[in-house]
Amino acid sequence: MRGWDPPGDMPAAQGMAFTLEERMQLGIHGLIPPCFLSQDIQLLRVMKSYERQQSDLDKYIILMTLQDRNEKLFYRVLTSDVEKFMPIVYTPTVGLACQHYGLTFRRPRPAASSPSSGPESADSFGRACATSNYAQSPLPNCSSCALAGLPEQSEHESPVQEEPPHNLTTPSLLWSMGPSDCISSERPVFCFSKLNGLFITIHDKGHLATMLNSWPEDNIKAVVVTDGERILGLGDLGCYGMGIPVGKLALYTACGGVNPQQCLPVLLDVGTNNEELLRDPLYIGLKHPRVRGEEYDELLDEFMQAVTDKLSTRQTCLTKEACLSFPILKLTEQWTHHPSSSSSSSSSSSSSSIFHITGHYESLPLITIDPVDSAPMVCQAFIDSITFYSHKEQCRTQKSLWWRNLRPWDAPREHEEATEAPQALVLEKPGSLHALEFGINCLIQFEDFANANAFRLLNKYRHKYCMFNDDIQGTAAVAVAGILAALRITKNKLSNHMFVFQGAGEAAMGIAHLLVMALEKEGIPRAEAKKKIWMVDSKGLIVKGRSHLNHEKEMFAQDHPEVKSLEEVVRLVKPTAIIGVAAIAGAFTEQILRDMASFHERPIIFALSNPTSKAECTAEKCYQVTEGRGIFASGSPFENVTLEDGRTFIPGQGNNAYVFPGVALGVIAGGIRHIPDEIFLLTAEKIAHEVSEHHLSQGRLYPPLNTIRDVSLRIAIKVLDFAYKHNLASYYPEPKDKEAFIRSLVYTPDYDSFTLDTYMWPKEAMNVQ
Ligand code: NAP
Ligand code: MN
Repeated sequence: MRGWDPPGDMPAAQGMAFTLEERMQLGIHGLIPPCFLSQDIQLLRVMKSYERQQSDLDKYIILMTLQDRNEKLFYRVLTSDVEKFMPIVYTPTVGLACQHYGLTFRRPRPAASSPSSGPESADSFGRACATSNYAQSPLPNCSSCALAGLPEQSEHESPVQEEPPHNLTTPSLLWSMGPSDCISSERPVFCFSKLNGLFITIHDKGHLATMLNSWPEDNIKAVVVTDGERILGLGDLGCYGMGIPVGKLALYTACGGVNPQQCLPVLLDVGTNNEELLRDPLYIGLKHPRVRGEEYDELLDEFMQAVTDKLSTRQTCLTKEACLSFPILKLTEQWTHHPSSSSSSSSSSSSSSIFHITGHYESLPLITIDPVDSAPMVCQAFIDSITFYSHKEQCRTQKSLWWRNLRPWDAPREHEEATEAPQALVLEKPGSLHALEFGINCLIQFEDFANANAFRLLNKYRHKYCMFNDDIQGTAAVAVAGILAALRITKNKLSNHMFVFQGAGEAAMGIAHLLVMALEKEGIPRAEAKKKIWMVDSKGLIVKGRSHLNHEKEMFAQDHPEVKSLEEVVRLVKPTAIIGVAAIAGAFTEQILRDMASFHERPIIFALSNPTSKAECTAEKCYQVTEGRGIFASGSPFENVTLEDGRTFIPGQGNNAYVFPGVALGVIAGGIRHIPDEIFLLTAEKIAHEVSEHHLSQGRLYPPLNTIRDVSLRIAIKVLDFAYKHNLASYYPEPKDKEAFIRSLVYTPDYDSFTLDTYMWPKEAMNVQ
């Protein structure tokens, strides 16, 4: 038995950073070279092998295998230079990685090099694993695994390129699906690595709760989910889309400081319409066209509910033992005697069966909570019917206990105002038992769903769950942030502007809605605000009565005859700002740029389409044609531009990574139950505010990427503040010092100590009788 045997307690691999004492206590002494390294030196070693990689994909592989092996070191590397690593772990390289995802299963182990034997060996490898470690424990106590990859890979640069068994330049280790293979090929053991996400297929419908329970971590605070249908600008990549949730969540930690163990990447596989993948015998996902309609919707509904319920379901843990060390629950008279009349939720038939008295503690009844059908309702039942109260002494003796208020996300305001003190309190120790907490406010980020599903699902779930769609809302926040920063250059108000959008999809609609909201905040009526937004889609200007208008587009349809080309629309509207989000490369022609420069002194020109090859115009073109007057931002990074007159501009990159990590940190910190659009607007305002005058004078509309951790932290504080003001938070009492509170939650890549607390008694006391 090792000290760290219990699942969840497995020490992060530290390689040669393990101290002698730790090596001995963990039973790994001698299995690591006799040398002790600081994390700083480990960082240097990683960088050395990183720099030797020729391609970005190889660099990506280096980083991802590091994440798999030594998570703390991985985040140390990422945070050492976010600007440098962002394009590798995120767009554009992550897109490339998704496209090459299939390669990884051709050679699950480098030894199996014949292409035909690839898939079979992948299978048998998987089976071997399932029958060995994995079957017994989802997080195998796999010492050989924790070791095998450790020192060799993390600190010695050489194996990366030189030894065939470790040849990472073939992406054999790029994606570890399910249990991943260890790096040592001599010992075919597996461990369940952080790299993996959870693959859920349409055929798992009806069993999602079981699937979620097989994920080794209980304490999940954030899920990023995709169905792989619209991966970046690359289209339907089916199961290969897993790279996106994995990459996004890496940024949750690297930019937002969210604990990686609390993050869960999910791919929902409902098939793919990508013919190439369907034909490819090596494709790793379901080989049929996408399932749509009712069945798809049922899967999504079940997924949302299962995530929400996951830990509620495990709340059977409010058993006797749990209660003994945790909250002591006292049933109010009301509940005990009149369960059905006590709750404001009328469907008390289910609430009355939720709680069971399973014992007594100091004459107080201990209750067990059953899996719940509707978490908010249960929460309401809690508040109405039960008083949780803490054992004060216990509270004082255990340092890290928090008081939290269990409050349903949609509790009626009157109810709250009428209540002086929170009625329902639970005393809990972070990281252990969380009564009803996770499920309800587990953050679910939707990522890279195709247009129709993205809008539909957002509208369906936004008020019911703690969720958002990054392609719609995250994009909106970052684009509006850029526009608000631009206002500091144009020195006027938002209402002085007219916007033309090229594109009317997820990104465009998200931005337009948030702009309307910002305009309303300036006092412009909604109807007036909408008149300032003109949209062009693949059929031309969106006008009333035109064909091919969906619900979203109708909202922005102008009262005007049809106009076909963007150039004409620009001439017609004379916008102060043009925003390109249609992935049509070069759509901002020289003519359009010249026109924009002739209409206004400082035209706003956002070429947001990704990747770089899809941009509406290059930064250089924009600055050249507008003689440096254009206020430019792009979706993908552009190099600095120096004009002939010697002026240099640093183009802004409207990267969603400015938004979602900070928002997520705030949402998690406050236990926020759902995310209204106001949160994205205040995030946009905060980001714009973070840009210094100096940056603006350089042409930058966003703070430098290397300050993103601080920016995210300040966004999180704003979000938290907002949440308490608007009764969206669920952790009570409200932390007095929000910054300190959030800082205390921020993940640090510093190594934890794994030494056991060992000590001696006085010699006499240890005498053998
Ligand atoms: P989407 O939902 O598929 O929307 C694409 C839109 O472009 C649709 O409205 C489509 O028109 C329109 N379109 C296609 N061809 C056109 C043409 N020839 N002229 C005018 N409009 C045309 O995609 P999305 O999620 O909005 O993403 C669009 C682009 O924005 C992608 O390149 C993406 O990478 C980029 N983006 C950038 C950021 C960022 O910079 N932070 C964030 C998100 C997205 P129909 O409606 O008529 O089909
Ligand atoms: Mn996306």
